[in-house]
Order: sequence, then structure tokens, then C-alpha cells
Amino acid sequence: MTDIQPIFILPEGKSREQGKGAQRTNIAAARQVADTIRTTLGPLGQDKMLVSGMGDIVITNDGATILKEMQLEHPTAKMIAEIAKMQEKETGDGTTTAVVIAGELLKNAESLMELNIHPTVIAKGYTMAAEKAVEILEKSAETISMNDKQSLTKIAMTALRGKSAEMGQEAFAKLAVNAVLTVADNGVDKNNIKIVKKAGSSIEASELIQGLILDKERMHPDMPRVVKQAKILLTDAAIEIRNTETKGKLKIRQPGQIQQFLDQEAAMIRNIVQKIADSGATALFSQKGVDDSAQQMLAKKGIYAVRRVMRSDLEALAKATGGRIITNFNEIEKDDIGYAGSVEGIKIGDEDMTLVKDCKQAKAVSILLRGATEHVLSELERALDDAISVLATVLAEGKIVAGAGAPEIETARQLRKFAASLKGREQLAVMAFADALEVIPTALAENAGLDAITVLTEVKAAHDKGKKWEGVNVFAGKAMDAWKDGVLEPLKVKTQAISAAAETAVMILRIDDIIASTRESGQGMPPSGHGMGMGGMGMPPMM
Ligand code: ADP
Ligand code: MG
Repeated sequence: MTDIQPIFILPEGKSREQGKGAQRTNIAAARQVADTIRTTLGPLGQDKMLVSGMGDIVITNDGATILKEMQLEHPTAKMIAEIAKMQEKETGDGTTTAVVIAGELLKNAESLMELNIHPTVIAKGYTMAAEKAVEILEKSAETISMNDKQSLTKIAMTALRGKSAEMGQEAFAKLAVNAVLTVADNGVDKNNIKIVKKAGSSIEASELIQGLILDKERMHPDMPRVVKQAKILLTDAAIEIRNTETKGKLKIRQPGQIQQFLDQEAAMIRNIVQKIADSGATALFSQKGVDDSAQQMLAKKGIYAVRRVMRSDLEALAKATGGRIITNFNEIEKDDIGYAGSVEGIKIGDEDMTLVKDCKQAKAVSILLRGATEHVLSELERALDDAISVLATVLAEGKIVAGAGAPEIETARQLRKFAASLKGREQLAVMAFADALEVIPTALAENAGLDAITVLTEVKAAHDKGKKWEGVNVFAGKAMDAWKDGVLEPLKVKTQAISAAAETAVMILRIDDIIASTRESGQGMPPSGHGMGMGGMGMPPMM
């Protein structure tokens, strides 16, 4: 269970900390966050159960989610959480990795500070090392083509496996790959992949729909339940008479006039429905309302119709079916009509939905996610989201590396060589940086219940012999060629994690003064009666 008590900004009874004290406090807070999520790293990482004050529960293994849910008070703890946010945004994966590296960088910096190496020197060495590390990674990365479905599936599986074992299933990874490849169009817009979660079935029942799932049923029971080879009309116009406007102007002088007016209305509706039918449409999706009488007429013409469709869904339908959203029923053109192999009303659980599927060149798709419970579904969605983001990252960059700690070991090895070319204290900082990277294979091994030192010795020996993709086989408890084993990841996940971790560590190292600011509400800051080091320097009012 995660400890979600706040981490205080300053030690009890203090309003200001300077120099080494400040740095220690900062580093301790940041490390506490990193240590918390370190045990979740890798396929055998543990889950965290997060309980909110309201009693809501989230069970997850996702670094970004854990950090989002934790109530962090200390500013450097928050800075560490920011790394995860950035990592998630930039690459969709590697959040735990980034945070754990940052924590280790700070831990090693602390040791250097014990040796009286100034934080500025450490910061300089770290910055240099980070740049070099990115260079090393870029050199060792391999290119991947979009047609290489097999490797893409492995990349998706690696992203999924980091979450939970049962999600590493190939079928699930293939789902993500197919979804991404379908919507890929000069890059991947994740918004074109709609994830619809429905509890009550097993993961295996999840499926990719080349089209869209709408949480709306057809509007009239007399309409067909299924339309095959559907011709699709999308509209953002209402099919009803705007009552208030018209009726306000209506002055009835003779009894017959009411009937005449009603007839006119009916004629207008009939006219619209006729135009729809003339267009050849067999399925209609309207963003607005549809009059009762129009519903009946549409049903009679055998048209499947859904009303009050959300704008975003209507736009997704346009992308999926190749149709265009029309506003004027008098100007429907042939090209406005979209296509779907099937439009059908289905029941999932006890909800009525509409499935628009088997579109020909869908540029928007839906994934129907099934799982036993809401908790399982939420974790599945996060995993799937990671896989989709990672695939999008790969398609954008076209570069991959192996995982399982291999890139970290190789980068550390080459960094140590680079350090040898430097002099004095910076050399120590670069060495410390190299050591810090090895926290990833170490944590992977530890989380698998292995003796990290033994496994790492084996892995490092292989690297010394030129096997750059040798990593930790967490399942078998020994070294493995991670590339051959299919543990693949985007290059960007690694470079981003290292750069972000280094930048934040450096930022934290540069702080040597924590001052309780008057501008804050003082939340998380214990009231203090005897502040230290406050020489009338505009310090906050003390109680
Ligand atoms: P993050 O939030 O950093 O992505 P994860 O919990 O997803 O954290 O773990 C990612 C790490 O797990 C990476 O170093 C990745 O290479 C490693 N990993 C994923 N699958 C495997 C596997 N099958 N064997 C060994 N390591 C793996
Ligand atoms: Mg991951």
C-alpha cells in the first residue's frame, strides 16, 4: 500500500534551510518518491494500491498514475513527479524509469557531496554525461520500418509487459499495432483511436473495430437492427420543425388553418426524409434531434438512424467511413456518403450501442476493451494507452533499442570510457552518472526476486565482449540477448528518460536555499516558532 502522507517542505521547527542542509532535505524528498515507485519497475514489478481520502481505490503499476495520485507536498518531490508527466507526454512510456534514474542520480550526488565535491561540479558533470549518454544511445539504436509488424508487436508487448503479465499477450499487442497502423497518416493522432471500456467479460473478448462504437441505439424499434454494406449519411442539422419560431408567427383565423399548418410541417419533414432516401443512404447519424414523425418515416424506408450523436463521434465517423458531415439536405452529393460493411445495434452488458464496422479505409477506429471489473479495465486502458503511445513514438522516430536493462548497461559502460578522458572531479561525476543508470537493470532484477549483483555481473561481462543488447531475463534469472528475445523499445523512451532525469537532478542540486515563502498558504509547512538563519531578510511572518 502506498504511503500517501504528505512530505513536509521543511523540517519541523524551521522556516529556512541553507547549504548542505537544504540539499539534503531536497534530495531526501526526491529520493523518497523514486524509492516508492522503484518496486513497480518491469514485468515483475509490484502494483500499488492508492486510496484517496474518499476511499476511492486505484490499483496500478503505472509510474505516472501513481505519482499523479500521490499527495506530494515537498517541492522537489513535485519536481520529480513532473519528470513522469513530461515523459508520459513525450513518449507514453518509461515514466518509472525516468523517475528511478533521477532518484539514483541524486543519491550518487549525495555521496559525491560527502567527498566535498561541490554541487556545481556535479551538476556540470551530470549535464555532460547526459549529453554523451544520448549520443551513445542514438549510435546504438536500430532503424525500424513501418511495415515491420512483427517488431512493432514486440514493441507493444514490451510496453504492455511493463504493466502486468497477463496483458503481455500477443493478441492484445496486435490489437494496438493494428489500430495504430490503421489510423497512421503522417504520424499517429491518438484521438483517432477511441477506447470503449465495458466490464463483464474477459480480456480475450476485446476487439478492434474498423469503425466506431457509439453508446447510442437506433432511435426507433421498427428500424432494421442490422444494415449491411451501409451507405452512411452524417449530418449536424436537425430533422424537426423548430416549433417556437414558427408557432410564434402563426395567427390562426380559421379552424382549417391548424390542419393546413400541420400538413405543411409534415410535408417538410417528408421532403427531408425523401432527400435522405434519394441520396441512397441506409444509415443516418445526426448530431441533433429527429422528429417523431421523421423517425417513423425513416424506419419505413429501412434506414438505420441515430440521433444526438456527439460531435467528436460524428467527426470520427466521417474519418472512419469516408463520409462528410452535411448541413443542408438539399445539397447532398455523392461524395458525402460514407461506407461501412455493417451498421448494427448491439447489446453489451445491458447497454444498447451501435457498432459501425468494417469500414474500408478507416482513419478512425475503436477498441472495445473487455475485462472482468472496472479496476481491471482501468489498468488495461492505461496499458493499451501506453502501447499506442509507444507505437506512435516509434512511427514518428523510426528508431528502436532493446530493453531489459541492456541500453542502460551499455550506456554506462561507454560513459565510463568517456569519463577516463576527463580530469579530476568531473570524471567522478560522470562515473557517478554511469553508476546511476545501472539502477534500471538492478531494479528489474530485484523486483524479480533475483540477486542483482550476480545477474549484473553476468550481463556486464557479456557487454565487455561486445554484446550490446545483453539484458536481464527476469523470468529465468540470468542474462539474455534482449534483442533476440524481442524486448524492444523506442529509442526516444530511453533518451527522454535520461535527459529529463538529468535535467531535474541538476536543477535540484543547484538549489542551496529553501525559504518558506509568504505567498503560499503554508500548506504542508509546519508553523514554526524559532526559525533559523533569518536575519531580517524579508522572511515570512512567524507565529
Ligand atoms: P516504465 O514506466 O519505466 O515504462 P515499466 O514498469 O513499464 O516502467 O518497466 C519498463 C522496464 O521493463 C524497461 O526497462 C523494459 O525494458 C523492461 N522490460 C519490459 N519487458 C521486459 C521483459 N520481458 N524482460 C525484461 N525486461 C523487460
Ligand atoms: Mg512501461
